[in-house]
Amino acid sequence: MSIAQNLHQVRQAIADAARRAGRDPAGVLLLAVSKTFGADAVIAAADAGQRAFGENYLQEAVDKIAQVRALRPELALDWHFIGPIQSNKTRPVAEHFDWVHAVDREKIARRLSEQRPAHLPPVNICLQVNVSGEASKSGIAPGDLLSLAQAVAALPNLKLRGLMAIPEPADDEPAQRQPFAQLRELQQQLRSAGINTDTLSMGMSADMAPAIAEGATIVRIGTAIFGKRDYAK
Ligand SMILES: *Cc1c(COP(=O)(O)O)cnc(C)c1O
Repeated sequence: MSIAQNLHQVRQAIADAARRAGRDPAGVLLLAVSKTFGADAVIAAADAGQRAFGENYLQEAVDKIAQVRALRPELALDWHFIGPIQSNKTRPVAEHFDWVHAVDREKIARRLSEQRPAHLPPVNICLQVNVSGEASKSGIAPGDLLSLAQAVAALPNLKLRGLMAIPEPADDEPAQRQPFAQLRELQQQLRSAGINTDTLSMGMSADMAPAIAEGATIVRIGTAIFGKRDYAK
């Protein structure tokens, strides 16, 4: 199957999941995760109508963004950095990306704000939360989220948009939905504390439908669009 055909199927699946949840499919943004795939794959997706692309590895992403721009300068794409960020590597992220999804420390946020070029709009930020059952060490603990959100909301060159999570894989639907529901409740708690956000970045190829059922506004989809990744390359 081609990238265009895969994209068509993924859009269909998003629309089906949204309708089953009583939601407007237009409220779910498809982020095409193009990590490990080349500029040619990005261009094929863009030619099939895809605008938002997610990348995890900084150097690969910066090179790819430049290649796509050189090959097809007329394409207006949005680039989202979804990988972990080291504090000494914030500058290229601040310079090349429209969104950053995995902010979990104030230091990173402060540097992104300081290093955002003045001619660009604020960077859209999601705070990564370590929701229940996550073995990974990344993501802020739910109990520390409010103070991080307050700090990020106060930074001039960032726009706090919402929350992001990468739950452990689970095999049944109730277990898949639980951490997504938790992320939605955390967003609600921020709202009660006066911090309004509009984004829940949650759901990947294997758990997109349960994420949409719990309110995802961005799903991050790689494999279902581009195929299996080959990290050996
Ligand atoms: C790789 C990646 C994805 C895409 O995962 P698929 O299972 O290929 O859809 C989404 N989010 C993050 C943070 C990733 O690293």
